[in-house]
Amino acid sequence: MLNRRQLLQGLGAGAALAGVGTRAVAAAAAPEVLVIGAGGAGLVAAKELASMGIAALVLEARDRIGGRAFTDSSLGVPWDRGCFWLHASNINPWMDYARRNGFEVQPDRFAREFYDRSKRLGGTETAGHRAVAERVQRELERAGSRGLDIAAEAALTQQTLADPWYPMVMAELTGWEGIEPANYSVLDSHQFVEDGGDCVIPRGYGTLLAHYAKGIEVKLGTPVTRIRWGGNGVAAETAAGLVSARVAVVALPSAAIAEGSVIFSPHLPAEVLQAHHDLPLGILEKIALRFKRNVFPSEATEFLRMKHADGRGLSYLTRHGGSNVCIAFAPGRLARELEARGEAAAIEHALEELAAMLGGDVRKHFAEGRATAWASDPYSRGAYSYCLPGRFGARSVLTRPVGGRIVFAGEHTQQNAYGTLHGAYLSGVRAAAEARRLLARA
Ligand SMILES: Cc1cc2nc3c(=O)[nH]c(=O)nc-3n(C[C@H](O)[C@H](O)[C@H](O)COP(=O)(O)OP(=O)(O)OC[C@H]3O[C@@H](n4cnc5c(N)ncnc54)[C@H](O)[C@@H]3O)c2cc1C
Repeated sequence: MLNRRQLLQGLGAGAALAGVGTRAVAAAAAPEVLVIGAGGAGLVAAKELASMGIAALVLEARDRIGGRAFTDSSLGVPWDRGCFWLHASNINPWMDYARRNGFEVQPDRFAREFYDRSKRLGGTETAGHRAVAERVQRELERAGSRGLDIAAEAALTQQTLADPWYPMVMAELTGWEGIEPANYSVLDSHQFVEDGGDCVIPRGYGTLLAHYAKGIEVKLGTPVTRIRWGGNGVAAETAAGLVSARVAVVALPSAAIAEGSVIFSPHLPAEVLQAHHDLPLGILEKIALRFKRNVFPSEATEFLRMKHADGRGLSYLTRHGGSNVCIAFAPGRLARELEARGEAAAIEHALEELAAMLGGDVRKHFAEGRATAWASDPYSRGAYSYCLPGRFGARSVLTRPVGGRIVFAGEHTQQNAYGTLHGAYLSGVRAAAEARRLLARA
């Protein structure tokens, strides 16, 4: 019987093998399941399959695991380039995993503060924001519960849209979906289940996923270009050769399939391909700024935002992890623009706005910065999926296997938790169970 190393020789010597050892994926002569993509969804699917005694092999394009969950330590304090908050903490499976494995988990109790240029606004001055945020919430809920598959913005009343605070609330909605509310389905977003507040992991959400991934065998540096699925099994084409199995769990971002960087032979059914197009990726980019000393108004971590008439500002999470690093968040169109201008310009933009709020110390004590570029990253093409208005139902199309051979996983397939790492987790569990059913039938 071939062991795993011999099996992998068929893939060529160039790619690295991660995670060998501590917990073996079920040893077998050949993988029964190919898992394509080592983000949260693919890793969970692989581990679930291993726990069922099913041999799975994960193929990953990048030279690291984690996909959109990745903690950067280059600034001396861990900060998440991708996912950061554990949303829906009452039902989020990562909460339990973190606690069982000794990770500190903190509730997000960061104060939210507004600035009007350099003036910090008090509670009465921001009461208008609270009022319009609540009204927006009610109006979106009303449309969602009536089953209206229309753009979120189309669900809002003229009174709301005309409110001077609305652009700031619109920016918050944009941060959630990665796209302005004129572009995503209110019905789809209504299905997201918020149960429990947000939490954070000081060591990083990406670090948590990397911990989970230990022992899962992943073939890194192995982009899949084509998936053949017409016959008695599946085969993935890679630069290093063909890898075969009986079933494939495809755990790629929707854009990888919609944009054709991975092609299927034969073509996917039209409805399935269309569903990938109907779930494009919105954008959130982050800019991390490290200062030589505390330039912020408080020792505590806070969320600072400048009031803009058009809502187009950054949000700053100060004193990240108690350090002098702050993380600026840019959603939607602003994110695209900053990314297109390049890292140095994005850092400069973030510094300028922060200095306008907090004064000259910001520039004087600035040390270094980093900016993400998820939209131009060929293996993600964005931050998280949203659903186009009128296309509600696309996510559920992707929960159905194709041809008895292909199962889809990924945040975009998880209706009640899309756009999140816990959605990726839940989709991985579902996909593994589905793959097992297909194997039993084949
Ligand atoms: C800036 C940002 C902030 C976010 N904030 C949060 C947050 O606070 N909370 C939260 O829960 N979620 C957040 N998210 C979303 C969360 O990170 C994602 O929903 C989740 O990580 C997606 O997991 P996935 O496995 O579905 O996809 P991915 O993590 O994208 O995994 C897909 C994998 O497929 C690989 N791949 C791509 N193409 C190929 C190919 N051709 N061949 C082989 N492999 C390939 C990729 O490299 C990747 O590893 C954020 C994301 C971003 C970018």
